[in-house]
Amino acid sequence: MYLISACLLGENCKYSGGNNLSDCVKSFAEKHSFMPVCPEVAGGLSVPRHPCEIREDAAGGNTAVVNDIGEDVTAAFESGAEETLRAAQKEARARGEIIEGAILKKNSPSCGSGSIYDGTFSHTLICGDGIFVRRLREIGIPVWNEERKDLL
Ligand code: SF4
Repeated sequence: MYLISACLLGENCKYSGGNNLSDCVKSFAEKHSFMPVCPEVAGGLSVPRHPCEIREDAAGGNTAVVNDIGEDVTAAFESGAEETLRAAQKEARARGEIIEGAILKKNSPSCGSGSIYDGTFSHTLICGDGIFVRRLREIGIPVWNEERKDLL
């Protein structure tokens, strides 16, 4: 079973209230066992919501997620990641499958893998993973984004 960002499948769960429909991800989903996930909604955040970015404190090693009006939403991101993982493991068990990997929206503070925005809300990308992706990597689940045309 694959986990797929719900917004890539056309669900209007993105911060703006829209989606990130990807035809190749949709086509992949038609041929594979999958579960749509949205860790931010699972963490109790609304649709629409203020855009959020991760801020790393390099000196202290602290990670915070903030929105563009300065609110700290770290707890919602962390609980959403945990809850999504728990639900996915439960679903995989119920289907008698394993979680083979995740195809998640690039650059997102939850779902981004390899690159995320830098916390300044200036459209600046840096190397890093979103909060949900960090949790998946901790337990060895491979993560790709919608641009991995070789996989999709
Ligand atoms: S948290 Fe992930 S699935 Fe939800 S809207 Fe953001 S990128 Fe899409």
